[in-house]
Order: sequence, then C-alpha cells, then structure tokens
Amino acid sequence: MPLGPTTSDAPFDKGSIDPDAAEIVSRLQREGFETYLVGGCVRDLLLDLSPKDFDIATTASPEECKHVFGRRCRLIGRRFKLAHVRAGREIFEVATFRGRPEDQDADDESGFVVRANTYGSPAEDAISRDFTINGLFYDPIAHVIHDFVDGREDVNNRLVRTIGDAEQRFREDPVRILRAIKFAGRIGLDLDPPIVVAAEEVAQHIHDCPVARVTEELFRLVETGHSRRTMSLMRDLGVLAIVLPEIQEALEVDEGLWADWEAWLGQLDRQVRAHGVLPRESTFALLIWPIVWRRIMTYEEPGQVDWGGVAFETILPGALRMSLPVRHRHMLKSTANILRRILYPRKRQKKRSILRSPALPMALSVLRMRFILGDLEVAEAYENWALMLERENVRAAPYPPRKPAAGREGAREGRRGSDSDNEQRGKRRSRRRRRKD
Ligand code: ATP
Ligand code: MG
Repeated sequence: MPLGPTTSDAPFDKGSIDPDAAEIVSRLQREGFETYLVGGCVRDLLLDLSPKDFDIATTASPEECKHVFGRRCRLIGRRFKLAHVRAGREIFEVATFRGRPEDQDADDESGFVVRANTYGSPAEDAISRDFTINGLFYDPIAHVIHDFVDGREDVNNRLVRTIGDAEQRFREDPVRILRAIKFAGRIGLDLDPPIVVAAEEVAQHIHDCPVARVTEELFRLVETGHSRRTMSLMRDLGVLAIVLPEIQEALEVDEGLWADWEAWLGQLDRQVRAHGVLPRESTFALLIWPIVWRRIMTYEEPGQVDWGGVAFETILPGALRMSLPVRHRHMLKSTANILRRILYPRKRQKKRSILRSPALPMALSVLRMRFILGDLEVAEAYENWALMLERENVRAAPYPPRKPAAGREGAREGRRGSDSDNEQRGKRRSRRRRRKD
C-alpha cells in the first residue's frame, strides 16, 4: 500500500478541462469531500489527446452526492451505486472511491465494481485500477496531479504497466489483457514485459469472463482506428488464438493471408479515422471479410458457389461464442450474396433488387477497399456500381457523407487524429449499455 501520493503540477492547460466537470468537482470539494477527475481523462490529457468523458471520484457517498446535487443527480447500479450528475446536456459519472482490489468481485459484469459498501480511500481506489496510466487523480481546482502508482513516469515513458503484479491482476480480471492491448495499440504505447508474459499465461481464462464484456472489448479493439496494430499484438501475445480461433486458424493455414488481412485492417482503420466508427454489424463484416473471401476463392468456380452460405458457415461458431446479435450474421451473409451477384452476374439478373438491398453499401465498401489495395479484377465492377448508385441517388458507403471539419472542433479532431470523437461516442454508448445491465 503506498504511503502517500506524489503530487505535481499538471502540465496541460486548464482550458482543456470540461468546465462542467470542474464545476462538479469544485462543488463537492466546497462541501468538504475530497474529489478528483480520474482514469482515462487524466491519461489522455497528459498524452495531449482530448478526453471526451471526464469521470469523477470522491469521498462523498452516492447518497451524499444526491444530497449535494438534488434533482441533477440520479443514483444508478444495484450493488455498487454510482451517481450520475447532469450538467446541461452532459452527464458525468461520480463514483465513491473504491476499496482494495482483493475486495473486488471478479464475477461482476464490469470488472471494476466492488461488492456493495466496500468504499475505500483515494489510495485504495488508485491501486484497484488496472494500469498505472489509468490510476492518476487530477485536481482541477489546485491544478495538480496526485500519483499513488507511479503513473506519470509510465505516461512519460509511454508504457502500459499493471498496478501490482501483472499475472495476479490479469487473473482477477482477464479482460484487462484486452484492455492492455487496446491502450498499447490505440495510443501507441509499449507493453511492460511482465504484461506480455502474464497475458500468455492467463489469456485462456478470458472465456471465464461474461461474454458481453469480452465481445465489447473486442469490438473496441477494432474500433480504435488502430486495428492493424491491436490485432498484431493479439497475435503476438497468443490472445488471438484464444478469443478468435477461427481467424487464427485461417491465418495459420494460409501464409499469405496474414499480410492481406493486415493491409485490409489498415484500410479499415483509415475508414474509421476518416468517417468514425461504423455500425457494429458492418465492423464485424469488414473484419472477417478477407477470411471469407479467401475461402470462397479456393473453389474452382467461385461464381457457382453460395457465397452467403460460405460466409455463414465461416463465422457461425465465432458468432455464437461471442453471442453476436443475429443481424451481424445476416449483414455478412447478405453482403456476400450481393458481392457474388455483382462480381459473377448471372443471366437475367435484376439490378433493381440489388439496388434495393440494404447490404449494397457494405458490398461496395468491400469492393472499394479491395480496389484501393490493388485488386484490379474488381475495379470495373466497383466503378460501374458506384456510378450507378450515384445516378440513382443511393448511398454507396455504410456511413453518412462526411461533414466538413469546422472551427475549433475540426482543428481538435485533426490533432487527435485516430483517437476520434466517434470512438469516444461509441464508448459512451457502450458504457451506457453496460450500466443498464
Ligand atoms: P477508454 O478511453 O477506452 O474509455 P478508460 O481508461 O477511460 O479508457 P473506462 O472503461 O472508461 O476506460 O474506465 C475508466 C477507468 O476505470 C479506467 O481508466 C480505469 O482506471 C478503471 N477501470 C476500467 N476497467 C477496469 C478494470 N477492468 N479493472 C480495473 N480498473 C478498471
Ligand atoms: Mg473512459
């Protein structure tokens, strides 16, 4: 247990802090409660990225929060209560400092929720967090950072390190392995060597975690806009073989496929960075497409094959294991069928019915990506169909047209690059979903 925090001036501009979040912290402090901004927002500020949510931790109990903020505050959660405090149209999460990690209930849905009433001190809360870069507390009034976990040094060294023993922390909650990969890939940080060793050791236990959490983190890994890097890390750490064994197997059987898939993921990342996170069924279809495509192309006469059927068969075990909604499978299947009709047209094929298919934008997206990656065989089909869609005024991509970046926000987005607003938006969406459970 650390004796006390190292306190130092915050190196970033106070103007980067959401004024509403600072107001909530200030109000709680004035009421006598020790209160800070915590977690991902402090990490992002130190890394010169724009945090889009500002989480708050305090010594006030949820009921005391309710008392301070009245109707602006709603208490949520069953076992470990959290306060949601409204400011304008935003909602801020205010959590009471949590107890020590060994008191945590590993079976809980979120992996970071403790048994009811195990509130703790700021120091106990800090060491119950996953990585040192996520364990820093920022006081926006005094403009200082309190560091119980040597997190600042790790931020400076751009290192993902667990708080405490890596193997023990991963055994407590194996989803942390995926989170480590996410931070390393998304922000471009190094993994502390013990994390690499422990990940290999513990990865098989990821399946002991609630499937919804694992699936959520997997999507987040792809939605970072750095899926090429995160998938590479997954493979290197032996995690891919455990969470996505079908992909790993396909990559092992066919040597050239890894390079193809990497190039493909690079395209997917460019798309996410330019247009934001895609709907999940589209993300899923794009992630898996090169593997389905390769399988279809092993047939002597691909034009005679039921593409939708092959796609379905390829992904069924994974989709069931990940508890994916049925629409994910359908999107992939319909995309495959449309692609077959576009690339291997049969006589008397009805263009109208293709034009009406909701999977057409996805199919065109696949063609465009293959075209960009140098597959000239699809070039003609892609150009013809893109032109036709334009003439018919039908959307040709699974995302809305890009709005021109304007003013300060535009500039900020540019600076943040891959860590896009959309990623943050998606994250907030999923957090809301998680909390509803
Ligand atoms: P992101 O930018 O992806 O949201 P984040 O660090 O903000 O990253 P959240 O899932 O929003 O991640 O969680 C907020 C904070 O809660 C984290 O910074 C970390 O301190 C803590 N936390 C989240 N999940 C865990 C976990 N599984 N184990 C321990 N601490 C966790
Ligand atoms: Mg966060």
